[in-house]
Amino acid sequence: MPGALLIRFDQTDPDNKFYLCRSCQAHIVLSRDFRVIFADHELTGRVFDNVVNVHIFSPDRGWKVGDHTVTDVYCVQCCNILGVKIIQTPENEAIVKEGDFVLYASMLRMWNGHEVVDD
Ligand SMILES: [Zn+2]
Repeated sequence: MPGALLIRFDQTDPDNKFYLCRSCQAHIVLSRDFRVIFADHELTGRVFDNVVNVHIFSPDRGWKVGDHTVTDVYCVQCCNILGVKIIQTPENEAIVKEGDFVLYASMLRMWNGHEVVDD
């Protein structure tokens, strides 16, 4: 969605660190909202509670990745897939919960307070 109004995090505060879309640099999620790395053999990424500047086409309809039901999360600016949103977890799941975002590290870069770097 080119021209969409993007949320931008504050880049004047050097303590403000966040992740950006690797391909278009849209601001996606604050580093302090990073919770844990989730690593399943079929789904691996960084787990966040909330993200901005993303789009989900089918929030109620998902598909299975391993034992989890997920749906793709797209960058609202460049439409690349950044990760998935968890729609349903298996009963014994302890790391991710419904509504969490699992974003692929390969699709993100980081603003470290001074510059954009690989994280
Ligand atoms: Zn993007």
